[in-house]
Amino acid sequence: MLLTLSTTHTPATDLGYLLHKNPDRPQSFELPFGHAHVFYPEASADRTTAALLLEVDPVALVRGRSTSPGGAGGTLDQYVNDRPYVASSFMSVALSRVFGTALSGRSKDRPELAGTPLPLSARLSVLPCRGGEGFLRRLFEPLGYTVTATRHALDETVPAWGDSRYFTVTLEGRVRLGDLLTHLYVLIPVLDDDKHYWVGDEEVEKLLRHGEGWLAAHPEREQIARRYLRHRHSLAREALERLAGDEAPEPEERQETRNAEEAVLESRLSLNEQRLQSVRDVLQEHGAARVLDLGCGEGRLLKVLLKDRRITELVGMDVSHRTLEIAHDRLGIERLPEMQRQRVKLLHGSLLYRDQRLAGFDAATVIEVIEHLDPPRLAAFERVLFEHTRPGLIILTTPNAEYNVRFSSLPAGTFRHRDHRFEWTRAEFEAWANGMCQRFGYTVRFVPVGENDAEVGAPTQMGVFER
Ligand code: SAH
Repeated sequence: MLLTLSTTHTPATDLGYLLHKNPDRPQSFELPFGHAHVFYPEASADRTTAALLLEVDPVALVRGRSTSPGGAGGTLDQYVNDRPYVASSFMSVALSRVFGTALSGRSKDRPELAGTPLPLSARLSVLPCRGGEGFLRRLFEPLGYTVTATRHALDETVPAWGDSRYFTVTLEGRVRLGDLLTHLYVLIPVLDDDKHYWVGDEEVEKLLRHGEGWLAAHPEREQIARRYLRHRHSLAREALERLAGDEAPEPEERQETRNAEEAVLESRLSLNEQRLQSVRDVLQEHGAARVLDLGCGEGRLLKVLLKDRRITELVGMDVSHRTLEIAHDRLGIERLPEMQRQRVKLLHGSLLYRDQRLAGFDAATVIEVIEHLDPPRLAAFERVLFEHTRPGLIILTTPNAEYNVRFSSLPAGTFRHRDHRFEWTRAEFEAWANGMCQRFGYTVRFVPVGENDAEVGAPTQMGVFER
């Protein structure tokens, strides 16, 4: 299986720096399923081509399996299949192992070039395309590529058998090398509609990480998420919800046409935006300088607050380690100048346990978190927040359950997100909040966030507590 990458950028030999592979030195890499070789069929100042040749060892594949997958194909199918000859998830793994730095958009020797769109082309000798040439084009053309595809006959000696699903494909465009590699990394297995490994939660994170900046707006994002996650519906739904940037229900989206979908997406994005803005505004009004974000998730609020110079100390806490890693990357903590880096800290911890590290802050935000807690654990959370952490200002948001009827296809009585343990009406939230004030000596005011419907209120309810 052969992938070639060419450029006519001058000097074209810079491709060697971008790929971190010297044009003069062929290299081989051992992979769990075979070998990858990198070499340059041509390397001149005008045009340079790097080749990644992947040798998949079908015997090694079978040996690596603890149990036979069985099925109709049986043993023969394990040895005789197309995997060694076509671009598939094996190619994606090889790309990330062999060109990992370039894939992430970095370059030691040519950092500015890594960030610059260059005239590039990629050629895949054999790419299986389930969904045909039309789907191939719908995947790559919206990303700005010119696609050339040649379809192969199933057997050239027996024309009556017709076409196969295999194409030789060339993609050309003016793109950053990291983007081209990322598009290939994600979309090759999508076209093949298969993966050689088990797909679990981590695959959602991987898709979102590699999809950053292009997948959310891609017209085929739903198909991409479904196939990338091997049709595991709950994973695909999670990915799509998170792509949309909010926890509003996905069912609504499915029934709309594609245009309407975009509008939905936008309004959902703006609900999330509005929530972050509202929180930021209240913090500013109160002149809070040392702020805690409890259940900070992927750091969306932290990112907004980091831009506010009046905030001198910003601490995000979450119970999910994985989520904190994403927050760490999103905030670009490694790349922040020293002074900035000192302003922000991420803590791993739970809101159900008293924690000394949370004492002495001006304000705490708890954004879309409380509905994720099991009702029997709420009492613990209440004491941790209002009694032990006890900041001067607490901003807490949660969905307004009454608004759910406005999400047309969210079945009655269901929550907006499958991880929610409950969703409160305005009266329920207000009763809970007033109870907190009485017990712990706070006052509260309620602020609707998002479109404030005359009948059912706003989609998000916010309580602003002051001591
Ligand atoms: N505030 C973020 C994330 C909301 S999702 C935002 O608005 O984008 C809810 C978050 O609460 C998740 O990241 C989850 O890991 C976290 N969470 C759930 N239970 C928690 C607990 N007991 N302690 C701390 N964080 C918790």
